[in-house]
Amino acid sequence: MGIRVIICSLLVIMVTLSSCSKKISTAINSTTTVNSDASMKKPYVILISLDGFRWDYVDRFNPPNLSAFIKTGVKSESLIPSFPSKTFPNHYTIATGMYPDKHGIIGNTFYSYDKNSVYRIRDRKVVEDGDFYRGSPIWIQANKANMVTASYFFVGSEADIQGIKPTYYYNYDGNVKNETRVDQALKWLQMPEKKRPHMITMYFSDMDRVGHRFGPNNDEKLIERLLELDLVLGNLFDGVSKTGLPVNIVIVSDHGMLEVPFEKYIPIEDLMNDELYMTINNGVIVNIHPKDNSNMNTIYNDLKNREENFKVYKTKNTPNFEYVPKDKNWGTIQIIPDEGYFFSTRARIVAAKEESRTISGQHGFDPKLKEMHGVFYANGPTLKEGYVIPSIKNIHIYPLLCEILGLEIPDNIDGNLNEIKSVLQNKQ
Ligand SMILES: [Zn+2]
Repeated sequence: MGIRVIICSLLVIMVTLSSCSKKISTAINSTTTVNSDASMKKPYVILISLDGFRWDYVDRFNPPNLSAFIKTGVKSESLIPSFPSKTFPNHYTIATGMYPDKHGIIGNTFYSYDKNSVYRIRDRKVVEDGDFYRGSPIWIQANKANMVTASYFFVGSEADIQGIKPTYYYNYDGNVKNETRVDQALKWLQMPEKKRPHMITMYFSDMDRVGHRFGPNNDEKLIERLLELDLVLGNLFDGVSKTGLPVNIVIVSDHGMLEVPFEKYIPIEDLMNDELYMTINNGVIVNIHPKDNSNMNTIYNDLKNREENFKVYKTKNTPNFEYVPKDKNWGTIQIIPDEGYFFSTRARIVAAKEESRTISGQHGFDPKLKEMHGVFYANGPTLKEGYVIPSIKNIHIYPLLCEILGLEIPDNIDGNLNEIKSVLQNKQ
């Protein structure tokens, strides 16, 4: 063996070693596949989101399985969403304990200055891009504690946030049957202890879809869907209790629903001016991004003069927020429809007319509007029985989940454990 070969081999070994040590240093940011001994001793949490499940549905329709679940568990009078009370901002608030302004998912659609692109919930590329998501969602917080996690759908779970995804997860596909999701969750709980997820998220869109289509006052349509969903949840509750594991099931919804007749739809095209500004419409809040900020006051005054069933604000003066919005991705001007009005496209308004539809359900409005409120129900060995608390904000769910799983609560969140900890056994 010549000296050159030895040197070459040494180089190869050195390169291999350095790439190994690199792998070890990035291991902190990689997905946990095996529970640590400490994590194996922790209880389990299944976080279930029922999209668009309004606070009053259980009392109105008495679904048997959910009603029994609440009776032997805890609930809040309602769950108060964060503004705007849209699906993506609120799921990610529940997952992180932060207001949208802090976690970055400020709408179902928004413009990002850093990425110079528009985030849209149906665009796979941006939805899976971890750069859009700030904060440490619950599965990442668990991952950091060497805890195995799983997700059968949740906003953010498909993105490589901080380089991490849940240990087991699926890309969103609304066609996957609810039964399939439940079966998989039960299979996860039957895995060997080392690989068994302690933090599981699930998502069911049924009540949102029926609420949009028929409005929240169509009892006949709502009850039909609700009873189907209740049956699936009942199977989950039964299956979980058969495992004998200490599982806490936490059920939340992202928002409620308000009946909006189509005659109260405002065509967004009326307010657009692509030469002067970009218009991002979320139905209940329209973000205006002037192309040249020196035109801001002219644009503001012009829009202000056209106020009709809507109001125009400079971003910092916009009502409905529980904080002064700081994220520049909101843009500098906001247009807010009056209560019960909604911005949509002219094409959609025409289509509704052609189908002779008169009623729809919408959300996104001011969280102070009770119709926008969702639910918080929970049941499990770590929680009290038959205990009710007043309405709470959805920023407080995250610290509760951290506490149940014994995870560190990040100090930069908006939620506060003290606001919700009375639902825990042995806590006031
Ligand atoms: Zn919705």
